[in-house]
Amino acid sequence: MPFTSDLTDRTTHVDIVNNPDIQHFLSNCKYMIEPTGEEATQIASLFSGAPSCKHLLPNNIIAIDGGNYEASIDENLPFTRLGYVKVGNILIKRNSFTELGSERFIDPFKVAQITKNNAATVFAFPSSNMVYKGQTTVRDSFRLAMDGYLYKYRTNPADSKTSLRSTLFKLASYRSNIKQASAAAELILHKCPNPECNAEDIPVWDIAESQQCPTCHHTIYPSDCLRIWEEVDDNSSNQTALTRFTNVVEHLFAMHYIRMVVENSPNSFVDTLSNLCFFMDGPLAIFGNSAWVHASILKYLAELNKTMRAHGKSDILILGLCKSGAVYDYFKLIDTDLSENSIYCLTDKIRERYVNFNRTSSETTFGNETYYGQDFIYKTASGRLFVFNIPYPVATKSSTTNFELEKSKIENYANLGTYLSLLNDFECDLYESAVVPVALAKRHTAISLNPGSKVLDLLTKANLQK
Ligand SMILES: [Zn+2]
Repeated sequence: MPFTSDLTDRTTHVDIVNNPDIQHFLSNCKYMIEPTGEEATQIASLFSGAPSCKHLLPNNIIAIDGGNYEASIDENLPFTRLGYVKVGNILIKRNSFTELGSERFIDPFKVAQITKNNAATVFAFPSSNMVYKGQTTVRDSFRLAMDGYLYKYRTNPADSKTSLRSTLFKLASYRSNIKQASAAAELILHKCPNPECNAEDIPVWDIAESQQCPTCHHTIYPSDCLRIWEEVDDNSSNQTALTRFTNVVEHLFAMHYIRMVVENSPNSFVDTLSNLCFFMDGPLAIFGNSAWVHASILKYLAELNKTMRAHGKSDILILGLCKSGAVYDYFKLIDTDLSENSIYCLTDKIRERYVNFNRTSSETTFGNETYYGQDFIYKTASGRLFVFNIPYPVATKSSTTNFELEKSKIENYANLGTYLSLLNDFECDLYESAVVPVALAKRHTAISLNPGSKVLDLLTKANLQK
């Protein structure tokens, strides 16, 4: 019987939790419990004073936020479903206040307009019982659609090397533990997506032409390397595949903008990048079959940061804001015990003891397979609590012991003061709004970065000409 309201739902849930069999079941489970006074005091004592900002704050902020949805195309055809992923990329100019900023009260219509423009890029995918462009299966249709989008999304429409797909080639060139490609425009697929073919380590190139598996002659695509197709099913919801794509494409966009800046001005990119910070909605991590991308991001950033440091600049700034999750839940419970203007760099020891209960193995350190950013918990001077990720201070995690040690040292994060100043700058809006780009856009000029926008010009211009 369907529940008639939320209230019914909640009452039923309470009944179930109070059921003696469920109580017995719970007694055998380990999960997060509200910390006792002593535990809360002990955890609070691990916080230290928030560092101040040593560098100039960047004027440009690129906020990236994706979402996805799956729905039937017609209410009479509930089994025939279409999926889509929306990614909003917004450039915020901190130094130029908008009309919104000079007003005491924010005009909801202007904010709504920003939200609408925010839906800059939409990727549609065939889901259950739907095929695309003559393909015979949903899986092959999904693969074709995805590769087409990544190839067609270009910073310069006339140059295919400015595509998101070329950025994927760039990241794949940093991949280890897999047969190395011989050239930057080549990548290696770990296996053929044709279920009847066993071919492995297949090279594909960054070219416009269709490419085939040398063994079975089935069409293969460069973006098959993300292995999202493995989650696509012909006869059920493809929500998991959509969520995985959303996650990886958000971070791919960030790396794409960085690559464009570097390749467009190889001799002066340090200036542009030092005046830019990325705000991601959620942790700096890539989950599922595409998780390998996170390690390439870490290596790419480490390589660029060497040049940044050689020019006396700070490391490239990327902040992932985590407004939900186990870490947020736990620290929210001890919020009243935490001092204002204090910060904590979460160690594996504390996380394993109090926060995360679904560990895969005690052999590995947290986030080893997925994260490229470290968790920080920050309580602002006015008492608001933020959980955020910033990139790890290491280039690889090849030594687990070294990685676990280095990521937990707060002194390794030289940029921390800059991140905190940025959070302070946007504090109220970030706290009150659920959507990061909308929050950031409330008091500053916001420009939607759709494919036609001159992103490189916008990033290098000191002030926006209206
Ligand atoms: Zn094959």
